[in-house]
Amino acid sequence: MTRIADLLATGRTFSFEFSPPKSADGSMSLGRTIAELEPLAPSFVSVTYGAGGSTREHTRDTVLWVQRETSIPPMAHLTCVGHTRAEIADIIATYVDAGIVNVLALAGDPPKNPADARPSDYTYATDLIEHLREISDLCIGVAAHPEGHPRSPDLATDRRLLAEKMKVSDFATTQFFFDIEHYVSLVNDLADLGVDTPVIPGIMPVTNIGQVERMAELSGAAFPDWLRARLEAGTSPEHVRQIGVEAATQLCAQLLEAGAPGLHFYTLNKSTATREIYAQLGLPVA
Ligand code: FAD
Repeated sequence: MTRIADLLATGRTFSFEFSPPKSADGSMSLGRTIAELEPLAPSFVSVTYGAGGSTREHTRDTVLWVQRETSIPPMAHLTCVGHTRAEIADIIATYVDAGIVNVLALAGDPPKNPADARPSDYTYATDLIEHLREISDLCIGVAAHPEGHPRSPDLATDRRLLAEKMKVSDFATTQFFFDIEHYVSLVNDLADLGVDTPVIPGIMPVTNIGQVERMAELSGAAFPDWLRARLEAGTSPEHVRQIGVEAATQLCAQLLEAGAPGLHFYTLNKSTATREIYAQLGLPVA
């Protein structure tokens, strides 16, 4: 069983994030994307979890499929929102039976409509981690927010609570960001708080402006003026996409130069941008 912490201890990891498909067409398309990305020999792939409850079975099925059908170790996302301890124990039992040991423990976001809220035995990611540690010997990753989480009162409080969370976890993966300074200050602040657990930067290749505007608003990540100006100079949707890939490639190169322990790509279930970045960085392809 491959533990992500062991991979990080021996070298850099290159990983991809997917959302679980909700239809037969989506499954076919994700299968194709994973087949196209497999030659890049990813260290692991992660599968997101719909905190609102919409994708739960899809997440489990996708994680089990990756474990069964590919050579890539999967990491399953799990959220506090709307979960009882019994449900979490049940999900973990299924994963452990299948030989899956990597999970990303998240708070999740409350459903947009409060009427959709389900009872939850956990509030913060640390509550979930505590329970996960009790029930199994898992490799547990957490989310880090380089520019601070939108619910945090200030950056110093965010960093202090993140440091506490990281002391009980094996690694972190970040929310996306576009300026390397956000990553460097996150890692430096954690070091000042006594934490040197690996922090893998999350990379979002921008393929169109509207998509980034929406995601940045939700995640608390800034959409910097310099990037907007570069993208707005694009003369066609394909040109904008190429500029986005180029900007992401430059960020990846800076991160590797700065000693990041890996790169985690938000693929949005597509392979093209990630493959292009790999090629532009000169990373090995099988
Ligand atoms: P926490 O670490 O619990 O923190 C949430 C907020 O509470 C922060 O402001 C923190 O400072 C504060 N806090 C923490 N502990 C305490 C405490 N003891 N007392 C007071 N305040 C506290 N969401 C999904 O629904 N599904 C996914 O699959 C998913 N994948 C993600 C993957 C990555 C890499 C990232 C970065 C985010 C992902 N998210 C996902 C989004 C995430 O669930 C939300 O950002 C959520 O609002 C916060 O999750 P967290 O685990 O960082 O929360």
